[in-house]
Amino acid sequence: MPTFVMVEKCDGCKGQDKTACMYACPNDLMVLDKERMKAYNRDPWACWECLCCAKACPQQAMDLRGYADFVPMGASCTPLRGSDSIMWTIKFRNGMVKRFKFPIRTTEEGTAEPSGGFEYAGDINDQTLFTEPASLGTEVWTLKK
Ligand code: SF4
Ligand code: SF4
Repeated sequence: MPTFVMVEKCDGCKGQDKTACMYACPNDLMVLDKERMKAYNRDPWACWECLCCAKACPQQAMDLRGYADFVPMGASCTPLRGSDSIMWTIKFRNGMVKRFKFPIRTTEEGTAEPSGGFEYAGDINDQTLFTEPASLGTEVWTLKK
């Protein structure tokens, strides 16, 4: 299930040219209806549930399906992003509430190094990832042909 906007909470990011959810979506799915000042997902089938929009929304106006590994069926899940952490509030069907707080990356916007500081030294045709084996801290073995 894709994320969707709870219209009663969305304030259209107060009419900015680009709302937080529009800015955050890597799939360019979020749109602002300027008449109603409400955002919506223009193509829910194309949503890959990365949850970037939900984490970015300053009004906690995005509803989402939490992944089964941390949210039981029927529970609601709301993120609240701070400057150095994100708090997930999980409300179970029986009313029990649990909160989990995780640190987030604090690299300044635009300063993240895509390679994480690793040099590419491999063969573009092999099966290892760009940063491997250095990022694994171990050797990668491969099957001999
Ligand atoms: S980020 Fe949140 S408040 Fe802003 S337009 Fe999107 S859903 Fe609405
Ligand atoms: S969950 Fe990700 S892909 Fe889906 S609308 Fe939000 S930001 Fe876009």
